[in-house]
Amino acid sequence: MKIKLNKNDIDSALIQQIERMSGETIKRCYQCGNCSGGCPVSYAMDIPPTQVMRYLQLGMVEELMEANSMWVCVGCLQCFSRCPQSVSVANTLEGLRQLVLRKGVDHDRIEDIPLPMLKSAPQQAIVCGFRKFVS
Ligand code: SF4
Ligand code: SF4
Repeated sequence: MKIKLNKNDIDSALIQQIERMSGETIKRCYQCGNCSGGCPVSYAMDIPPTQVMRYLQLGMVEELMEANSMWVCVGCLQCFSRCPQSVSVANTLEGLRQLVLRKGVDHDRIEDIPLPMLKSAPQQAIVCGFRKFVS
């Protein structure tokens, strides 16, 4: 999955859009690192939660679009519970996901999922997966 954004187009309007979609105020993050410290999957992220917030503060949205962080997040809200500024990285990553999905870009293609997995996986897991990965 690749969303091509022209570097010259990255401006405060896009950041404001992400803030509207996530309900978060990006500049409230003061980079304490608590979110990354508690995130159970930060080890698997190209850009860990604390850096996600910093990238956004610097307007580096294109780099975040290329990274796997928004898709790896499991939505456990550990980051939010540990944040002294009441910032939810989880909501922010959801905003980034919506930015992609609302363009009609699927992260996972349903037809690529093996039939045995579709037959054996719990229905709730399949529905949740589609809601997260499919536009
Ligand atoms: S909600 Fe996502 S970013 Fe936050 S701690 Fe959980 S997995 Fe990490
Ligand atoms: S815990 Fe909150 S303030 Fe600290 S780095 Fe994460 S988002 Fe920023």
